[in-house]
Amino acid sequence: MITTWLYGPGEACSKMPGKMEAPWRLVLLGAPGVGKGTQAELLNEQLGACHLSTGDAFRAAAGRADCHLTPAMAEAMDYIRRGALVPDGTVWDMVRERGKCLHCPGGFILDGFPRTIHQAEALHGFLAEEGISLDAVIDYEMPLAQIVGRLSGRRVCAQCNAIFHVDDTGAPSRCDHCGGQLHHREDDRPESITVRMKVYENSTAPLIQYYQNLGLLVPVPASGSPKEIFARTVAALKRKRDPSCQQQDNFDRTSNAISALP
Ligand code: AMP
Repeated sequence: MITTWLYGPGEACSKMPGKMEAPWRLVLLGAPGVGKGTQAELLNEQLGACHLSTGDAFRAAAGRADCHLTPAMAEAMDYIRRGALVPDGTVWDMVRERGKCLHCPGGFILDGFPRTIHQAEALHGFLAEEGISLDAVIDYEMPLAQIVGRLSGRRVCAQCNAIFHVDDTGAPSRCDHCGGQLHHREDDRPESITVRMKVYENSTAPLIQYYQNLGLLVPVPASGSPKEIFARTVAALKRKRDPSCQQQDNFDRTSNAISALP
């Protein structure tokens, strides 16, 4: 359980991942709604690396009855509601405070962070100081028009954060996994979606070139089912670690299983 990431350094994780020989340290890029959260969960199951989402950490802060929000956090909630980016200083304070999560022995999957060049530079400096290096930055690619459709139909379980789509199941109201109530995120409403897409194009898309220049970028087409996208991700990561690996994807279509990464 990623308690430290969600609730801050005062809360220890109830279950620490075991030490990995070669833990994966990843950043997931891609427009909001492209499916980063779903892929991060699948990667977490497969690789053991912690799923660290800044959006989830903000929502956890907002949803805690016993949490007295600092003025910066209260202000952050206002930005989130409008679909705008929270100021870099507030985001970085939150990430830095949780810096030990970046030392997790199981590795990490950063989702939704960094979102600006400033944040990427802050992360780069921090990781260099701490002697940690990123293995890859996965960029999930999808035309923006397709993403808008996905976002407006997205429903999220209030209890376990599982993601559903109105298209998949008609109009679901309960979570398949835990029975929790599904809700429509305030920032998945049309007014906020438009703002978030503009913000993505202006502030976050430049990170693609930034990480390309650092030789870390791994582009992955994000169309198809979560399983198909995941299989592509796994194959791309394999090729990144071992460029001699020519395998296009290692999705076993007979068993539907995805063989473990080395
Ligand atoms: P997400 O769940 O990643 O879509 O994030 C939800 C919202 O939280 C975003 O629309 C932003 O308002 C805010 N947020 C999350 N991560 C960041 C970040 N790295 N920089 C700025 N704002 C963020």
